[in-house]
Amino acid sequence: MLDNTPKFNQLINDYYNNNHNLKIICRETGEEFELSEGMYDTYKKNGVPLPTVAPHIRLLRMRAHMGGIELFMRTDGQGKDIVSVYDPQSPGQIVDVDYAFSDEFNALQYGKELNVQESFFSQWKKLSETVPRPAIATDDNSENCTWCSYDLEFKNCYATFGGVSNENLLFCDMCINSKHSVDSGNITKSEWCYDSVSCFQCANTYYSAFCESSYDIAFCFGCKNVSNSFGCYNIQNKKYCFFNQQLTKDQYEEYMKKIDLGNRAVSDAYWQKKVKDLWANAYLSANVNFNSERALGDELINCKDTYGISVFTAERLYNTFDASFAKDSCDITTCNTIEKSVNCLRCINAYENKMCIACEGCVDMEYCENCVSCEHCFGCIGLNHKKFCIFNVEYSEEEYWKKLDEIKSAMFIRGEYGEFFPYFTSLFAYNTSHADVFFPLEKEEVEKLQSRWYVFSKNNQTSLTESVPEKLNSVGDDILQKQFICPSSGRLLRVVRPQLTFHKKMNVALPAEHPSVRRKKKYKLMGGLKLHKTNCVECQIEIYTRYNPASSQKIVCGECYNKILLEDRMML
Ligand SMILES: [Zn+2]
Repeated sequence: MLDNTPKFNQLINDYYNNNHNLKIICRETGEEFELSEGMYDTYKKNGVPLPTVAPHIRLLRMRAHMGGIELFMRTDGQGKDIVSVYDPQSPGQIVDVDYAFSDEFNALQYGKELNVQESFFSQWKKLSETVPRPAIATDDNSENCTWCSYDLEFKNCYATFGGVSNENLLFCDMCINSKHSVDSGNITKSEWCYDSVSCFQCANTYYSAFCESSYDIAFCFGCKNVSNSFGCYNIQNKKYCFFNQQLTKDQYEEYMKKIDLGNRAVSDAYWQKKVKDLWANAYLSANVNFNSERALGDELINCKDTYGISVFTAERLYNTFDASFAKDSCDITTCNTIEKSVNCLRCINAYENKMCIACEGCVDMEYCENCVSCEHCFGCIGLNHKKFCIFNVEYSEEEYWKKLDEIKSAMFIRGEYGEFFPYFTSLFAYNTSHADVFFPLEKEEVEKLQSRWYVFSKNNQTSLTESVPEKLNSVGDDILQKQFICPSSGRLLRVVRPQLTFHKKMNVALPAEHPSVRRKKKYKLMGGLKLHKTNCVECQIEIYTRYNPASSQKIVCGECYNKILLEDRMML
């Protein structure tokens, strides 16, 4: 599309002719980062200047524009109560999802003439605060889901965020093809998991992480093909193991009879006194990639020339977190079926989208949000089947390209063009956004980024001091009517019916902490969005990992990890 904007075309060509620098100092953190040739080419081909902030900061900036793990009751434009991903203090105009996508809704009525000479982002903020947004991002194809968001084909889920094709999940995050699980994150093809993270093909799994093809396990870390085991780490093809010690079936069952996970004091004691330290010293595979070539990162499946985390089927895709079926793109997060795009968040069926949020079926869009089936639009929000619009104003084709050329050139000269929407334009408070789960910040740090901070209401009924009961067998249905106080956050919580049913069936104690506190602990375990370049502690080869190399866990390459498990090295 560059031919239609000759002035801008000239500017970007000159920029690339004079700029071959692959090493850049991050404007936000001061750290140096390096672009690969592939990344450089992708920016250049897409007509976007090189990034000015480090790769993980680019992902965080985008994720500061989507909800995290909270849902709020707030009022819509008509004063009606509504469940929303936006907190009650968000300056956005929040409306019912059905209305936002109905024929009744006409986003063009909010159109404004864009002043080429003024800051684009300040003008965008004003437009953004007037055009209504759907209260929640949820999938039409999901069935019977309450308090879920960013779901894709869910069935009977409750308070579950992100992920694809899940059934009967409660308080879970970013799971794939999983069922009947509670308080778990990033589990794939797994069922009957409780408080488990990053597990693949596991079942009847309690308080476990990084396990594969295992079942009937508790407090296990980095185990493969293990069953009926407790407190084990880095073991493979084993049964009846207790803290990495091989027992007979009878011995193991005898041990298990004495452990009542229905009592929170028991599970807390195991965690505090023994398990925590074992996990801290365990081996952790730097990455789990499958069927991929020249792929750097973690959870890359069917990827070629890709750099990122959690990507399924991609070619020439760089600095990405959570995407599938993507090509020739850079700085992409939570996108599906996307090509020749840069700086996109939650876009689906996207072609040549740049700096866009939640656009679907759109072609050649820049700085747009919540548009459906549109082409050639710039700085628009909530449009449906439109062409040649700028700031929600329709132009003739000729006028459009002329104005676009002026806008992009002026933005380029001001150093705005190519930057994602800054934090100050987000309708989300940072600590309610999905950036916060990976990169939690204090209030002062958030304010420094010019982002907003939301103060969660704490217990205002001073008489209420009761925590969720410790022993599951002391709990009856009357618990569903009560409110409790979270000992770590002071926030109020309730127990819901399907949760109680699950805990009774699994005989596992109810958690005392607020769901958001529980979720944040899981995200911490999952690893961050920054790919660290480090060396395998065993063979010293260079590895890329999302886990902090400064942590006590021993991060090893995939080959060394498999070797350690195969050699039974960690068995007592
Ligand atoms: Zn190694």
